Parts: sequence; structure tokens; C-alpha cells
Amino acid sequence: MDSIIKVDDFSFRYRDAKRCAVRHLDFEVPEGGFLCVVGPNGSGKSTLCNALVGLVPHHFNGKGRGSVRVLGQKVADQTIAQISCNVGFVFQNPFNQLSYTAGTVAEELAYGLGNHGVPRDEMVRRIEQIAGPLHLEGLLDRNPLELSGGQIQRVALGSTLIMNPRVLVLDECTTQLDPLGSEEIFDIVKKLNEDGMTVVMVDHDMERVARCADHVLALSRGNQVAFGTPEEVFGDPALEEHGVDIPDYVRISRTLEDEGLASGPVTLTEGACAERVGKALGR
Ligand code: ADP
Ligand code: MG
Repeated sequence: MDSIIKVDDFSFRYRDAKRCAVRHLDFEVPEGGFLCVVGPNGSGKSTLCNALVGLVPHHFNGKGRGSVRVLGQKVADQTIAQISCNVGFVFQNPFNQLSYTAGTVAEELAYGLGNHGVPRDEMVRRIEQIAGPLHLEGLLDRNPLELSGGQIQRVALGSTLIMNPRVLVLDECTTQLDPLGSEEIFDIVKKLNEDGMTVVMVDHDMERVARCADHVLALSRGNQVAFGTPEEVFGDPALEEHGVDIPDYVRISRTLEDEGLASGPVTLTEGACAERVGKALGR
């Protein structure tokens, strides 16, 4: 089976920009995969997300090379409406995602379905189906604008998921939430992935990335500096030189090794590193 996402030597320069925002990106994601995209500010993470959902090149003008394919179809050859049937997008700021016409959470969730002419009883069925896993049952009659940040982000996620996308793209969608709200969203996404949804997620919490992603793509100044399993990517000592953050426990483990307090092959799991620290401290 072909990969559900195939990015082929893709570069993009925004109109009027001096340099490419992303350059020679080249990777694939199999159906059911969980890819995390990491890298410092301005490294091209959002541009890549935009290219997966068609906002690049259909909304943001510029010059592209190579291709981005989702389900075998080039994103550049389809309309945003066509792409959105397969790919759901959750923004960093959930307020950018609200319709501002819905009076209740239930209406907000159903907004996209209405645009696709889904009949009313089917809408009700899907709202009920989505409300459970997103913990929105008690909020369906509330005004979306009166909710907390975490609740609004769950509504935004719900309004995307209700369209049953095959691929879910999340661009730093937990950065505006407190740790609890953030973990809650993450747990929901992890569960969706376990149930078969393909996930591409930009996230800044490297421990979480290492725990949940099956593949990590690291970007720096628009370049793809690493792509592989979390072990492969975070195990590469050169990664930090590109300004890419790594999990704390990898850094600790390396420091121990540099200080001569630990040796042997580094196993990049939290448990293995904890064991190393324990040994080095003589416990
Ligand atoms: P990240 O999400 O990793 O912070 P971005 O994809 O937002 O990175 O940005 C990558 C580069 O593209 C940056 O140099 C940024 O200034 C530039 N850029 C982003 N959006 C636009 C835009 N709409 N027009 C021109 N340049 C942009
Ligand atoms: Mg960004």
C-alpha cells in the first residue's frame, strides 16, 4: 500500500520572501502513522502543515517545487474543499477556527457538516458520537465563546474530527493551553491514532514527541535535518547543533556519559535513561 502522505523534494518560497521557507523536504507517512514535526521558530513547520492541507499554495501565494501528495493526489492540483474531505487541520489558536456564527457548541461542531449538506439526523448522530471522546457532552448547549481555552480547543478539534478525516494535521495546537488541557488533547489524538487515524503533529514537548510519535521530522531554517524514528532522530548528537530541542532525559544521559558517569549504548527511552541516572548516582 502506498504511503498516505508523500512529500517529494518539496520546496516553497512565499511571494516577496528572499529565501525558501522549506527546502527539499522529502519523506513519507504510512496510513496510521504518527509523525511529529519539530524544529526552532521559523524553521518551516507551519509552512509544511499548510502545504499538507492546501493552504500552501492555494491561500498563501508563492513559488513551489517538487510535490506534496495526500492519498496519491497532488495537493496543488486539488481545491482546499476537496483536500478538506480527507485532511483535517487544527490550528495553534482555536479562535481562528471558530465559525463565529454558531450560538452553541453543538452548532459549532456541525458547522462543516452543514456546508456539506449532511442531513439533520445524521448531524445529531455525529455530534453525539464526537462529544463523548472529546468530553464535550455537558457543553453542547453552551456558547463557544464562553468556554475556557482548553474547552475551545476541544471544540475546534471536534469540528475537524466530525468530518471524519483520514489524516489529522495539528500545528502547535496545545501551546495556548495549560499542561492539563494540553495533555488531554494529546491523549485524545493518541487514541485517534491508535484507532487508525494518520496524524501529523507539530509539538514543542520533546518528551511527549519521543513517547508518541513513530516518526520524527526535524527542520532547521527550512531544511530537513533529520527524519526517522524518535530513537534515530534524538540519538543523533548533531541535532542540537541545528538548534533542534531534544528530550531532557536524552540530554541528561549524554551529560552523564561526557562526565564518565555512564557508558555503553544509549537507549533513548525514558526508563532506560532513568536507570542510567540511578546507576550513576549509585542507587
Ligand atoms: P515555524 O512554524 O517553524 O515557526 P514557519 O513555517 O511559520 O515556521 O516560517 C518559516 C519561514 O517562512 C520563516 O522565515 C517565516 O518568516 C516565513 N513565513 C511564514 N509565513 C510567511 C508568509 N505568509 N509570508 C512570507 N513569509 C512567511
Ligand atoms: Mg509555526
